[in-house]
Parts: sequence; structure tokens; C-alpha cells
Amino acid sequence: MTDVAANWSAVVERVRSAAARAGRPEGSVELVAVSKLQPPEAIRAAHAAGARAFGENYAQELRDKAAALSDLQGLRWHAIGPLQTNKARYVARSAHVFHALDRVEVAEELSRRRTGTPLAVYVEVNVTGESSKSGVAPGALGPLLDAVRPLPGLTLVGLMTMPPLAPAEEVRPLFRSLAALARQHRLPGLSMGTTHDFEAAIEEGATIVRVGTAIFGERPPR
Ligand SMILES: *Cc1c(COP(=O)(O)O)cnc(C)c1O
Repeated sequence: MTDVAANWSAVVERVRSAAARAGRPEGSVELVAVSKLQPPEAIRAAHAAGARAFGENYAQELRDKAAALSDLQGLRWHAIGPLQTNKARYVARSAHVFHALDRVEVAEELSRRRTGTPLAVYVEVNVTGESSKSGVAPGALGPLLDAVRPLPGLTLVGLMTMPPLAPAEEVRPLFRSLAALARQHRLPGLSMGTTHDFEAAIEEGATIVRVGTAIFGERPPR
């Protein structure tokens, strides 16, 4: 059995030391526990250990878990996976934050469907320009941001990237490029860093890291 509580505390500590090393203030990095494909009991265990923000990739799974765990206090759901317009309603209803916005059609659908508190959104950037990856190309970022900013029901908070699986020192330049783009577009939020590279991401300015495996152990197959 994975000791979720012990893993959670260890990752919290690693986030804290990375932030301190980078000379960043206490509390300047939010830790999202990525619970995709993990059972609701794993989320309950992490919640008991102090976790409040959970990341889910699949819209229906998010909808189902949000319903099954509605008794937990203070949960914040982060939808972190690519989204199709026909599933946007699940994210609009259940999520507090969406990290993978890369098309204006999805933004418009989320805007139409959202009621109550605006959905905080990060625009996903494909920093390397690899065509197999999701995310908007850096050159198309400006026009997408301009289209998203005025939409009701959404609050644009920052940029996100999901680099290829590679050693942390190889992805560090990609984190640095995302940070430069965020500065250029005057966006405060930077969603970057997963289990294998979150410390490098924090050193490069991440304000929110998305960590799954280091907290919950290996994911069961989909
Ligand atoms: C699965 C996933 C993560 C977490 O990855 P780990 O390696 O398990 O930490 C983070 N971000 C996104 C977008 C993901 O799909």
C-alpha cells in the first residue's frame, strides 16, 4: 500500500525547500495533487493529510469524483488535461481551475456554461513547438490571450506547459521560456513541473506544480 500521507508530507517539504533555495517567499508555490486514475479513497487519504487541490485529466472522471467526494471540506478541483468542447460542461460545473486551455472554441464553451465564481484558467503553451503535443504554439499565444481575456465566466491567470518526459536539466530551458512568455504577457501564474521535474520548475518560477506519482504512487492503467 502506498503511504499517501507520508508521500504528501515529503513532497510538501521538497516544494518548501526548492522555493527557499530559489529565494522565493513561503507559500508562493501551490501544490496540486494529481489524482487522475486513482480511486476516491486515495484522495480521501491525501485530504486527511492536508491536501486540498486535486488534479484530474478526464472530464467525466472529474465529474464523478467531485460528486463522490462532495462531503470533503475545502476541495479545489483542477482540470489539467486537454478538453473537447462536448465535455466542457463537466469542467465548467465541477472545476475551480482549468490548466489546459489551448483553443478559443473551448474557452467560449466554458464561458457559456460557467455559472457562479469565474473559472480560473491557464493557457497551455507548446513551448517546443512539437506537433504531437497539445498546447498553443508560442507565436499564436497573443491572439488566443486576447480572445480569452474578455470572456465572462473565465479569469485568465497564467500559462501552463507539459514538457516531454526528459531529465529535469533538459526541460529547465522550457520552463524558463514559459516564464519569459508569462512576463511578456503580464500573467502572474505559471503552472509547470510534475513528479520528475517540479523542483527545477520551482527554481524557474512555477507558482503551481502538478504532482501525481510522487504522492499517490504509480497510476493504475486507464
Ligand atoms: C499526469 C499529469 C501530471 C502528473 O504527472 P506525475 O508524473 O504523475 O507527477 C501533471 N500534469 C499533467 C497535465 C498530467 O497529465
